[in-house]
Amino acid sequence: MIDCHCHLSDNSFKEDVDQVIDRSVQAGVEKFIVVPEFPDQAEKVIDLSERWKGRVYPSIGVHPIQKRNKSVQMKHFTQIEPLLHKYRGKLACIGEIGLDLSPKYKLSDEQKAIQIEVFKMQLHLAKEFNLPVNVHSRCASFSTLSILSSYSLPSLLHAFDGTEEEIHSAIQMGSHLSISPAFTTSKQGELLASLTPLSQLLLESDSPALGMEKGRNEPSSIIHCANFISKVKGIPADQIVTSTTENAKRLFSL
Ligand SMILES: [Zn+2]
Repeated sequence: MIDCHCHLSDNSFKEDVDQVIDRSVQAGVEKFIVVPEFPDQAEKVIDLSERWKGRVYPSIGVHPIQKRNKSVQMKHFTQIEPLLHKYRGKLACIGEIGLDLSPKYKLSDEQKAIQIEVFKMQLHLAKEFNLPVNVHSRCASFSTLSILSSYSLPSLLHAFDGTEEEIHSAIQMGSHLSISPAFTTSKQGELLASLTPLSQLLLESDSPALGMEKGRNEPSSIIHCANFISKVKGIPADQIVTSTTENAKRLFSL
């Protein structure tokens, strides 16, 4: 299996990231696409990929929500831009990038506009570097899809919260959709797993977040995502594992 979206550079893995990777490899996770959220995690992701060559594949990008739940600012993009140029040849994708317009953040129109601008600038670089994008979209499906479609980039929409209609648009655009452990117990997960053709489905842990239970999630949990897709689609689990692995290799050129 390949975990297409995990945050092994997160502080909660600081003490034991190597054991976590070991455990996950033992559990059948062959490769990890590690995505940072904040500029100060980018070098950590690169370090990890150097230490775990052939296992950890790095991504760089700025998440729409930064530390202390603050909406992204242009300065975050300015910090990440030189790193994107410096490491472009090493990257599996650009991410985690995207839009998060969740009402709980009470974003101003200006903050929303900056999120969109930062998203577009990173999509622009992905186009220039010929890299796929690892995308976060929360309460923002319409904007995310319309912006993404204008760049026609290979993409992964992780833990996508769009409606049935929006899932169809994403599929039609050729986007890949990934199922996280938390989605295996939700209506949204069922919708994603049933509507998305197997050729566009991927597995993700989003660890340390989006586990099935409270507490730290680990990449080894993606076996539950494969079993869940198997149940929803009525296709044997080993076939789900084979297909999602092939999809990930194709999308990220692994
Ligand atoms: Zn994430």
